[in-house]
Amino acid sequence: MNFKDKVVVVTGAASGIGKATARAFAENGASVAVVDINREKGEIFARYLRGGGYESIFVRTDVSKPYQTDKMAEKIFRTWGKIDILVNNAGIEFNDKGNIINMPFKYLKRTLDVNLYGYMNCARSVVPDMQKRRQGGKIVNVSSLQGLGSDFPGTSYQVSKAGILGLTRALALELAKYKINVNAVAPGAIATEGMGAMRGDEAGSLNPYKRRIPWGVRGRPEDVAGPIMFLCSEHSRYMTGSVLTIDGGFLINLRPSELNSDPKLHPVSADDPDA
Ligand code: NAD
Repeated sequence: MNFKDKVVVVTGAASGIGKATARAFAENGASVAVVDINREKGEIFARYLRGGGYESIFVRTDVSKPYQTDKMAEKIFRTWGKIDILVNNAGIEFNDKGNIINMPFKYLKRTLDVNLYGYMNCARSVVPDMQKRRQGGKIVNVSSLQGLGSDFPGTSYQVSKAGILGLTRALALELAKYKINVNAVAPGAIATEGMGAMRGDEAGSLNPYKRRIPWGVRGRPEDVAGPIMFLCSEHSRYMTGSVLTIDGGFLINLRPSELNSDPKLHPVSADDPDA
């Protein structure tokens, strides 16, 4: 896929899925804005990309703050004159802080502020220029399998990820006349250094989860970057309002994980990021 002359914004690009996505776009010719709240990691990564001969800037942004996403877009317009592609990826979760009933309100609210309002803020800062230029555009929203179903404990994370799917559909309709494609990806379990890092009890429950994944392993950030690039390419020209699941088959598997422990189920070894 060739993204030469395309300007791409990836939010949450200092880590995990966003980082792999930003790198993949840069390697395929795009100018990439690394947008993240973490200045240190973001600056190091953008410098690393430039060191590899790629076009990249870091823009420190808290996506939950509309005035900051406006400033982010203005900086990119000043640098490259336009934005062709927005990948809304920055996300957080506080699933260890309780459920919807007893989680302290500040965590419920912060999750929605970043995961849901953050995606809307970025779209509101970026889209008017796309509409004015009349050259089309691409938006990919990173949702989650947890936007399609729920795990325990149910928290505002799942509410936010389901909301992102509603936002994707609403924006896809609103922007179709401008030929701006708006699609979503719903990753399953992806091994990242941030949200995909296993903690305490979660680490202990990794194997039962993996047994439920027909592919047998968690995915890598690059497994999500590829489909995101596809959704930003001309190969997906006629797709809008769609959701791609990227989960090693987790969602379609109705078989209880207890029945999936036979090693012979996987005669072909998988590339396991947890191994
Ligand atoms: P990660 O924690 O590795 O990276 C998230 C990045 O977002 C970090 O660099 C962080 O600094 C940044 N960020 C957090 N709050 C921000 C804010 N307010 N403004 C700007 N940047 C902010 O996470 P990841 O695992 O790569 O997840 C990326 C996206 O993928 C998230 O939206 C997440 O919900 C989604 N997702 C992840 C998984 C998984 O298993 N890892 C599964 C499904 C969906």
